[in-house]
Amino acid sequence: MKILVVNCGSSSLKYQLINMQNESLLAKGLVERIGIEGSVLTHKPEGKDKVVIEHPMKDHKDAIKLVLDALTDKNHGVISDMSEISAVGHRVVHGGEKYASSILINDDVMKVLEECSRLAPLHNPPNLIGINACKALMPNTPMVAVFDTAFHQSMPDYAYMYALPYELYEKYGIRRYGFHGTSHRYVSKIAAEQLGKDIKDCKIITCHLGNGASVAAVLNGKSVDTSMGFTPLEGLVMGTRCGDIDPAVVTFLQEEANLSSKEVNNIMNKKSGVLGLSGVSSDFRDVEDAAENGNNRAKLALDVFYYRVKKYIGAYAAAMGGVDAIVFTAGLGENSPEARYEICKGLEFLGIKIDEDKNKVRGKVTEVSTADSKVKVYLIPTNEELMIARDTMDIVSK
Ligand code: AMP
Repeated sequence: MKILVVNCGSSSLKYQLINMQNESLLAKGLVERIGIEGSVLTHKPEGKDKVVIEHPMKDHKDAIKLVLDALTDKNHGVISDMSEISAVGHRVVHGGEKYASSILINDDVMKVLEECSRLAPLHNPPNLIGINACKALMPNTPMVAVFDTAFHQSMPDYAYMYALPYELYEKYGIRRYGFHGTSHRYVSKIAAEQLGKDIKDCKIITCHLGNGASVAAVLNGKSVDTSMGFTPLEGLVMGTRCGDIDPAVVTFLQEEANLSSKEVNNIMNKKSGVLGLSGVSSDFRDVEDAAENGNNRAKLALDVFYYRVKKYIGAYAAAMGGVDAIVFTAGLGENSPEARYEICKGLEFLGIKIDEDKNKVRGKVTEVSTADSKVKVYLIPTNEELMIARDTMDIVSK
């Protein structure tokens, strides 16, 4: 069975075609500048050079059409006909309270997803556009929605409720939802395998540290808390997002600095985080380099970032009554020995001891804690696309 995984943004689209017989990648690619001048598809068949196709694409349907053409192309294609694609798995950011797991898409599901757009106005609409474009071009191919929020639907009410008037939850759905769920689910499963234990007997803290970043507490295979909240803005310091701040800062800025709600929102989402603190970049590589070269604000940005992750690890160990394993994943978590070291430093009292030599590693499943560390620390590369493909196969095979 071959599954196409699609992740649609407002002007971009990422895809992977996966052969589920051996879970091997057949091709992957990225479409950029959809609906904008200079639309381009970068298609990479596995084991071959990438192909860059510049072609006008007025909408996502044009983009999907071009992707399907690339996948079936005589020279750089990997299948001979579209009918070889058994199903399409779509990444959908928000499933609200309705979906605690992935679901086969039908008209009723589409209605619910449209309602969920209210909660994720930047992300869900392009996800839906992608689904509709695929449905138009592949009307007989089953489609599955896999949600970023679903894994965290197991959070208990005391973890997901904000102490705001209860009516705001009832009327507007204001509560914590959490994101990156597919990644936290994937890496926690591998961590349990590495521990040699049934995930139902594990206390795992997963740190997804990329441009967007979140930590999750995974108790017995279920997410019981996570650092992102009503939106992905809550929690850790990120590339450009501020994470946790006193909410009174928002009204203060509106009243004192005369900023509109849109302007404050833009500051918190696009101009804060390590970019805002360092003034250097949102990319951790640049910030690490600047700090190494003596830039004090870059060093401060990293210190604030590490400290916040450390606090969440402590909090989630408390939430679960202990911890068996800490997992680092995503761009920074997989590639920065320094970040893993600095975050774990000082957590020896919890039984967390990182091995500096083993930690000098990037991008492959590795135990980076010392042999006598009570808590195991792992680097586990995430693979959200594979998780989406697995869910899609499970659902369409039923
Ligand atoms: P992601 O959102 O998971 O793609 O992660 C992207 C972020 O990972 C980038 O913005 C970088 O800050 C970070 N990153 C990637 N590679 C490295 C590296 N070798 N060292 C430090 N940070 C890295």
